[in-house]
Amino acid sequence: MPHHSRLLRFLIPLCAILLPAHAAAHDPEQAEWSIAIHGGAGTLQRDAITAEREAAYTTSLQAALDAGAAILRDGGTSEDAVLTVITLLEDDPLFNAGRGAVLTWDGGISHDASIMLGADRSAGAIAGVSTIRHPILLARAVMEDGRHVFLSGEGAEEFAGDRELERADTEFFITPSRQEALERFRASEVAVEDDEHRFGTVGAVARDRAGNLAAGTSTGGMTGKRWDRIGDSPIIGAGTYADNRACAVSATGSGEYFIRAVVAKSICDLMLLSGMGPDEAGDNLIAEVEELGGSGGVIVVSARGETAFSFNTSGMYRGRADSNGVNEIGIFADED
Ligand code: ASP
Repeated sequence: MPHHSRLLRFLIPLCAILLPAHAAAHDPEQAEWSIAIHGGAGTLQRDAITAEREAAYTTSLQAALDAGAAILRDGGTSEDAVLTVITLLEDDPLFNAGRGAVLTWDGGISHDASIMLGADRSAGAIAGVSTIRHPILLARAVMEDGRHVFLSGEGAEEFAGDRELERADTEFFITPSRQEALERFRASEVAVEDDEHRFGTVGAVARDRAGNLAAGTSTGGMTGKRWDRIGDSPIIGAGTYADNRACAVSATGSGEYFIRAVVAKSICDLMLLSGMGPDEAGDNLIAEVEELGGSGGVIVVSARGETAFSFNTSGMYRGRADSNGVNEIGIFADED
């Protein structure tokens, strides 16, 4: 075994013992509960968005944030808070998840989603499904079933089988603006990333009063995706991760780079092993993504209930709330 692996095997349990106790004993500002949410990251200039559209996004994000915060305030679990936020945003056609998801090259729908709990690091993920109204609930069903972590395509649809998951037709998910986006994408005849169309993946991270963390992410992926492409969102460790010893993370952005940098798990590792806070750890991984050529952002909640946003795009739809009275929504980079 290489020397550094032995060191890690020693350090990880040591940190697990020391960190939560230390934080609980010396941090009067520790939030009893906290939540952060996102609705995607990308290029967005203030003068390119109308006041009405900005208000529509703000209203939707605030409603989802309030619903998640209410669950945590009332003593509910971080898992319920995350699922509530994501199912609300999946139903909202403004966002690239559930209804309003971006379209594949062939004009179809292909949802990816994942959820993870920090208490026991149980996780569930699905990719390439098109008939489930709330893809995040299918990911939760995979987690609860427990035999597997990641199901895809027809197999995932078959697994959904007669479980109590609401089905929907493809038409339910497709909106005119996503059809136009696909037409523009196809007309360009270049399979380049298009930031404007990348906005809208949704995610949530939360810490509940019991100190349990949860993270979830749901997306339609990227406009014009082909060949059953799967991004980072349903990949545990890349787009989603939760570990009570460190943090919970949900990512959004150019998924290929987030997979290569193993963003979500790496943020938790930096916090656990080097003692970095969520801001610094998030910034480190977003810098790595940028170095590789990617863009996007993350939301992070720490074991102590701190929340952080980190992104290298000009905008990220986001919000956060906690038991200390924080309650804010943001869109542009200069709002922090
Ligand atoms: N990360 C998602 C993907 O690559 C897209 C996004 O977050 O906008 O599928």
